[in-house]
Amino acid sequence: MPQPQRPQRGPQGRQGGGSRGGPRRRRRQFDDDNKTPLMWVPKTQLGRLVKSGEITTMSDALKTGLPLREAEIVDILLPDVVDEVIDVKMVQRMTDSGRRVRFVITVAVGNSDGFVGLGQSKGKEVGMSIKRAIENAKINIIEIRRGCGSWECRCGTPHTVPFQVTGKSGSVEVTFKPAPRGIGLATGDVAKKILKLAGVADCWGFTEGKTKTVVNYAKSVFNALMKNAEMRITESEITKLGILKGSIAMAPPASVAASAPPAPPAGTPQPSEG
Ligand SMILES: [Zn+2]
Repeated sequence: MPQPQRPQRGPQGRQGGGSRGGPRRRRRQFDDDNKTPLMWVPKTQLGRLVKSGEITTMSDALKTGLPLREAEIVDILLPDVVDEVIDVKMVQRMTDSGRRVRFVITVAVGNSDGFVGLGQSKGKEVGMSIKRAIENAKINIIEIRRGCGSWECRCGTPHTVPFQVTGKSGSVEVTFKPAPRGIGLATGDVAKKILKLAGVADCWGFTEGKTKTVVNYAKSVFNALMKNAEMRITESEITKLGILKGSIAMAPPASVAASAPPAPPAGTPQPSEG
């Protein structure tokens, strides 16, 4: 009698189990939960505006000032958004009936191009809590301001934070300053992950307090980015600070900008004479 064929499990397991470490693409995962954008029935005003196609960009959605309560809005408007688990903490508590284990999950999301969110969730199961933390990160999404930001640089692409901001959470305080192109993220690892998701390529970071407390570090980074997003700025300051719209993806690669300083236009007298 031939045995019924079972699906082979490779040594690396099936997709899904795998590592939770790196950013995961979410582009084509609508079908997982039967929530294709077509089947989604929005429950909020902003959700209905997005579903009906009246709002087509995340910037416009945030500008309405309407509460963002449905993660599907982000799935539709930012299909390139990825998530990264920043921290998994196990919390044990003794109760009458024995030991209770819960997980506190902190997740960051971003499209690596100006949009970033941070979310948390608690629960008995890791997988379910991660899923809810991702949803929370999505509904917390903000649009940050980026620019060239530095008179040392003048490359004219939105690669850094355009002005200094400080964020705080618990004992941790973090300050970000504009950096010229090619510097990279001169920050701690947690800040690096979140800034990357936000689409900041170059930045100086300064921290105070217990940055080993990953959750507080992540929250202080996000608080700083919220200040970046919410700062009141006049039209003239936009020009002065070098705040730029548009995508860093359209900019020349960092290696080019870093290795070759902008060439003077042809016919410009060289400064060597003076
Ligand atoms: Zn620049």
